[in-house]
Amino acid sequence: MNIGQKVLNLLKDEISEIEYDRYVKHLIYDLKKSSTNLAIFYAPNALVLNWIKSKYKNKIQHLFEINSDSKVNIEITLINSKEKFIIKEKNIQKQPIHSLLNPSFTFDNFMVGGSNQFAYAAVKSVSEKAGILYNPLFIHGGVGLGKTHLMQAAGNIFQNQGKVVIYTTVEQFLNDFIRHIKNKTMERFQEKYRNCDVLLIDDIQFLSNKETIQEEFFHTFEALKGEGKQIILTADKHPKKIAGLEKRLQSRFEHGLIADIQPPELETKIAIIEKKCEINRVILTKDIINYIATVIESNVREIEGILSKLHAYSKLMHVDITLDFTKNVLRDQVQENLANLTLDTITKSVAKDLNIKPSEIRSKSRSKNLVYARRISIYLCRELTQNTMPQLAQYFGMKDHTAISHTLKKINELIQNDEDFKVKIEELTNKITSSS
Ligand code: ADP
Ligand code: MG
Repeated sequence: MNIGQKVLNLLKDEISEIEYDRYVKHLIYDLKKSSTNLAIFYAPNALVLNWIKSKYKNKIQHLFEINSDSKVNIEITLINSKEKFIIKEKNIQKQPIHSLLNPSFTFDNFMVGGSNQFAYAAVKSVSEKAGILYNPLFIHGGVGLGKTHLMQAAGNIFQNQGKVVIYTTVEQFLNDFIRHIKNKTMERFQEKYRNCDVLLIDDIQFLSNKETIQEEFFHTFEALKGEGKQIILTADKHPKKIAGLEKRLQSRFEHGLIADIQPPELETKIAIIEKKCEINRVILTKDIINYIATVIESNVREIEGILSKLHAYSKLMHVDITLDFTKNVLRDQVQENLANLTLDTITKSVAKDLNIKPSEIRSKSRSKNLVYARRISIYLCRELTQNTMPQLAQYFGMKDHTAISHTLKKINELIQNDEDFKVKIEELTNKITSSS
């Protein structure tokens, strides 16, 4: 059910049946032309139009506001017969879209890898059996790792099954609560949250130390859970680690299933970038995708920002997106992310990966595996830090900058000619940058 129809249904409960049948029933909500801040209705004739305008416009506006959490202007006009036909068609064809669920957050658009497999499987199975399997389902993980995406993917499935889904953040829940207290309409608040089929609450960590809203949330939770209604929650950390969260809430959360999302590994990052390119119709070569995946940290939201930046720049400047272009566009961002990387941390990571000591990398030994490790370290230090060639020569105990430039040339040749080696370098870069 779209929000316009929902509001009219709510109005039905508040007015007499005769008035509803005579006037309100004939209003048509224009889903296509309405937006978050504007609701457009059509009346079939002047009588209905005037009646609604004088008696119910404010009421409709109020109902919109409490159900959508934003200020909404109501426009009611007479319909002409052509429009009538088009709108009816559209409203029939269109899937119901809840104003707060993002329809592009689907399971199909979510790339699965080791880091998010468990959370994905948990949400997916809940979406197939609401309220039965894991209730509540609690997903936690760092910023930009796909918690909201997964939660809304389930929401979209429920929504399309005609279930009443409420998606809200703790902040919106709190604002709604405060507004209803002010308006002395707490029953409406309770009715709204306790009568839904599915409740999705994002970023539960913000309940921390807010006792009154925790109390209210607890009762909402109990009411829904008692009726077998599905609850999905997300947070940036495990419920046990959310300070200032009531014990009874903590234990309720732990009763369901808790699934975490870890930062994506290189392959998952690459798959995500490929997917986002496909969705946004951006064409990038494999080299560019690998570069972005290796130098950018694990936050997927940041990766999305980069894709739109690249797209916008290339359009504005009328140039193709090449690897050099990408490196240029991302220079500041990459440097900011890598600002904390030192020669020591890079050398240590390479040493650890190749199972040798960092001091051996910096020694003068010419044994084959150490020369190999030293070359890789020099290359990565040059790529990932701002050190000059003379500085690198000094750090690695080499004669002068020509020795460094010789090494870099060798490594670049290898990268060009040896696919396995190239992959190895990408993996190492990824390890180093994601732990910085
Ligand atoms: P969180 O809620 O964990 O902070 P979001 O769900 O808002 O993160 O994700 C941030 C962005 O990254 C969204 O646009 C989302 O589509 C995208 N994203 C995150 N993980 C994935 C994934 N595995 N596959 C595809 N897109 C992803
Ligand atoms: Mg989120």
